[in-house]
Amino acid sequence: MLSQTSAGLAKPASPASTPYCLFSGAQQDEMRFACSDCGKIYKHLRSLRTHLKFECGKAPAFSCPYCPFQTKRKQQVSLHVKLKHRAQLGP
Ligand SMILES: [Zn+2]
Ligand SMILES: [Zn+2]
Repeated sequence: MLSQTSAGLAKPASPASTPYCLFSGAQQDEMRFACSDCGKIYKHLRSLRTHLKFECGKAPAFSCPYCPFQTKRKQQVSLHVKLKHRAQLGP
């Protein structure tokens, strides 16, 4: 019996001067944009900018009509209601 353990996690150094850090994936053209505030990673710089502008550090703007659940995305509310309050929605 052989047990294999692979601990090969490499953390890329992020320069503090930029508002976001870039990750290069397996391929060179596969870049990742990470929020320096919360660490969320986005595939497109545009998405990260939207996150920084509307999400990061902002108070939740949408809340569930059935429970105290709050989120920053309207889409998340409908998804939450679908998952958690299917009974209230009816057939
Ligand atoms: Zn963030
Ligand atoms: Zn709810």
